[in-house]
Amino acid sequence: ETQEQVTEIAKDVKAAGATLMRGGAFKPRTSPYSFQGLKEKGLDFLKNARAATGLPIVTEIMSPYMVERFVEDVDLIQVGARNMQNFDLLKELGKTNKPILLKRGLAATIEEWLMAAEYIMSEGNENVILCERGIRTFETYTRNTLDVSAIPAVKRLSHLPVVVDPSHAAGMWWMVEPLAKAAVAVGADGLIIEVHNDPEAAWCDGAQSLKPDRFAKLMGDLRGIANIVGREL
Ligand code: PEP
Ligand code: MN
Repeated sequence: ETQEQVTEIAKDVKAAGATLMRGGAFKPRTSPYSFQGLKEKGLDFLKNARAATGLPIVTEIMSPYMVERFVEDVDLIQVGARNMQNFDLLKELGKTNKPILLKRGLAATIEEWLMAAEYIMSEGNENVILCERGIRTFETYTRNTLDVSAIPAVKRLSHLPVVVDPSHAAGMWWMVEPLAKAAVAVGADGLIIEVHNDPEAAWCDGAQSLKPDRFAKLMGDLRGIANIVGREL
């Protein structure tokens, strides 16, 4: 939302052990009247936070027209759930050699998700990371239903790393911790966790955001789970 805030949160999460900083500059909102992101300015905020902390940055791309700019500015390019089958975008990203974080579509099967990854890889870019972020089911209590079984499934079906976004799956901050633990326990290679310094006042997704101190505590707890399953954080 502001440069100070982005840099401050980047410092906090880095101190807690985060290895990448993700923030949305171009945001695919359900309603055209909702906050659409700070766009170019948001990208600059992220770049400045990277300069201040050394954390590589991750942000979402929505259009094939932006590929060149993202290749230059961003370390890991996120394709959001809504664009998982934007095949023209996937093919353009496939012509780059940037790592791509491919989120699972809102109602995509595992097969469709892996085929979307193939669209990127078949153009020559094999640097794809999958991200399970919950799928739409009959359940409405949670924002989405985290498909925990997708993690061992894609580990068996492909060689690609898979990370989990418990924040967008749950939609509620207090469920992020147990889902993050479950994700590590079933073999996830990483997590994306939404952190905000003042969630109640957040412009977007405050309900699912952890405050930096809770994030730090969670990182400590996750180390224990990771050790049990033979992984390191
Ligand atoms: C996001 O990561 O901010 C986002 C919009 O998530 P998803 O594409 O998974 O809905
Ligand atoms: Mn979000």
